[in-house]
Amino acid sequence: MIAPDLETAIDKLQELIEGARRIAPFTGAGISTECGIPDFRSPGGLWTKTQPIQFEDFLASQEMRNEAWRRRFAMERYFAAAQPGRGHLALASLHRTGKALGVITQNIDNLHQDSGIPPDHVIELHGNNTYAVCLDCAKRYELSWVKAQFSKSNERAPDCDCGGYIKTATISFGQAMPEREMRRAEEMTLDCDLFLAVGSSLVVWPAAGFPLMAKRKGARLAIINREATEFDEIADLVVREDIGTVLAPFIAH
Ligand code: NAD
Ligand code: ZN
Repeated sequence: MIAPDLETAIDKLQELIEGARRIAPFTGAGISTECGIPDFRSPGGLWTKTQPIQFEDFLASQEMRNEAWRRRFAMERYFAAAQPGRGHLALASLHRTGKALGVITQNIDNLHQDSGIPPDHVIELHGNNTYAVCLDCAKRYELSWVKAQFSKSNERAPDCDCGGYIKTATISFGQAMPEREMRRAEEMTLDCDLFLAVGSSLVVWPAAGFPLMAKRKGARLAIINREATEFDEIADLVVREDIGTVLAPFIAH
């Protein structure tokens, strides 16, 4: 059902949460917009401005790598200032009850960890852009170091000691999905009886397969997203309201 108003939405959500044995929360960029990080697909979202850099293009040219880092540093003012929002805090509260063993996220902003969920309980399907890694030897680099190298070399993206390219620890379009995270997300999805999709347009695959997988094996599906999604029809509850407002009552104080 599509919740007709906010009050009904919160009541229904409460019922579903209370009735659930195991919850799998799944989040997208929409949970972080109130934290000042724009999403991709809302009107005015990042994609209305620039297309993302494909992985093969990043590998193919120094200029693309420079551009990728230029864009990352231009976003720094959003990412560095961001604090967990009400949605993150509500999911952290749910995690503390033990009903949600973790959170599956498409986000790369580290805000679930910042909200108090232990890092190994945050399953990042698309990686993390608050640090960088060498694509060859996997050595970790801090952004401050990359920034310093970038600035002193006339905006040239630095390489690793091993000669490999250094990239934010994110999964770009065209890059392989992380196997371990995919497996853990699948386990959490198959083990839940309530799948809670929050702030995702549910169009990025394979991530969007998880709500479907949950529903197919008999879990309830609740979708909280301002805009309609392709899975609204099969959902048990659809809430097209502001995430922070809907989830605020679930923050345990
Ligand atoms: P998306 O941009 O495709 O969809 C976000 C959805 O959230 C939209 O449908 C929008 O209507 C909804 N939304 C935005 N603010 C909302 C609010 N306050 N209340 C209710 N709904 C709201 O995002 P996606 O599905 O996560 O896919 C985009 C990809 O972009 C992901 O793979 C992710 O890795 C990446 N991304 C991440 C961040 C981040 O880490 N914060 C930001 C932008 C993009
Ligand atoms: Zn290396």
